[in-house]
Amino acid sequence: MNPATPLLILRHADVLVTMDDQRREIRDGAVVVQGPAIAWVGTSDALPAPYAEALAAGRAEAVDLHGHVLMPGLVNTHHHMYQSLTRAVPEAQDAELFGWLGSLYPLWARLTPEMVHVSARTAMAELLLSGCTTTSDHLYLYPNGSRLEDAIEGAAAMGMRFHAARGSMSVGRSAGGLPPDEVVEREDAILADSQRLIERWHDPARHAMLRIVLAPCSPFSVSRDLMRASAELARATGVSLHTHLAENDNDIAYSREKFGMTPAEYAEDLGWVGRDVWHAHCVKLDEAGIRLFGRTGTGVAHCPCSNMRLASGIAPVGAMRRAGVPVGLGVDGSASNDGAHMLGEARQALLLARVGFGPAAMTAREALEIATRGGAQVLGRDDIGALAPGMSADLVAFDLRGVGHAGAGHDPVAALVFCQPAHAALSVVNGRVRVRDGHLVDCDTAPLLARHRVLAQQLVEAARHPHTA
Ligand SMILES: [Zn+2]
Repeated sequence: MNPATPLLILRHADVLVTMDDQRREIRDGAVVVQGPAIAWVGTSDALPAPYAEALAAGRAEAVDLHGHVLMPGLVNTHHHMYQSLTRAVPEAQDAELFGWLGSLYPLWARLTPEMVHVSARTAMAELLLSGCTTTSDHLYLYPNGSRLEDAIEGAAAMGMRFHAARGSMSVGRSAGGLPPDEVVEREDAILADSQRLIERWHDPARHAMLRIVLAPCSPFSVSRDLMRASAELARATGVSLHTHLAENDNDIAYSREKFGMTPAEYAEDLGWVGRDVWHAHCVKLDEAGIRLFGRTGTGVAHCPCSNMRLASGIAPVGAMRRAGVPVGLGVDGSASNDGAHMLGEARQALLLARVGFGPAAMTAREALEIATRGGAQVLGRDDIGALAPGMSADLVAFDLRGVGHAGAGHDPVAALVFCQPAHAALSVVNGRVRVRDGHLVDCDTAPLLARHRVLAQQLVEAARHPHTA
């Protein structure tokens, strides 16, 4: 024990959900955090002497978690944070995917760097308060001088572990794609910026707070060449790949018509399968696709709220997991899931699985496992998603003493999923407390939300009245 490294001791949690390889749940649980990593996990009365002595001598910070469930921080594998500016936009409220995109692309074309930055910070505030400690963000529009750095700097300010996905669109409407020409980029510029971002920011080390991901937006907005070139660049530099795939019936029809293949066949043809690849949605992944993904370890970001909101369908998550497909959870962009609550997303995953496949389709503990270990696996990380010595110190605690969990003490772990989604009482990311007593630390949310409100209004008004803006 290096006395110079700060010690944080969390103890007396009603239940400590480790999500370790044995899936241990420890009553009266305690965790010792030393610097960015977990040093020890066990029962509170078994705290090793050096830590107990450090506590007694005032050399450690202690947090009492009576009445709380303590667990690994939730991992969000799919989001578009800029969409927090276009929640509940009336003309996009009741459409399916392609119609929804058609309504929103012109608005998003007016994004500015400040909008990207402020919306990323706002989205991360929401995620942190919902129990999420690691998030990906798929940013695929760069209008008006916006850069991925606008989101990266937001993550640094919020202290969240971040997988920044350099998205892209290159096939505009005039070339047979879905997005308007004004929001697509040249492919050589996309690849050059991708290379620049990897060299500048990607951290492959254990406990990394920032990794870069290459993420051409979807089969209907980029070319085969860009998909292939992105895969080559990702493999040459050791970064992951991410895109949208097999989201709904129109998406399947587009793939059959343009490429003569199912989305899974198309992904395989492009080299977009493997442990370093994860695809969002996969609602319509067929049996052969599930076998392919299982065989190759290709991951899926399951986004139940978004899939319901856009009436895309019910992803066959149980079949995927039985076939060995890594599955994580994603809240998806705030315009297709207007509430980005990670614990709430786990609850919806359970409920939707049961609507589709019966009451045994998903247990509460499976939902929590997908939201933690599953997400870590999908992002290609072995240092988050479980609480054990040597793992990154990403932890969240939920206080179950409120009215929303009254009477649920029979099984507090299941109650996290079955009862109303709780807000995080405590959140620790990389050993730093980010949420304490249910409030963000080092973040004044009032001015942040005030600015977000102004920018959201500017964005939508400017698109509605383009000549007066
Ligand atoms: Zn998405």
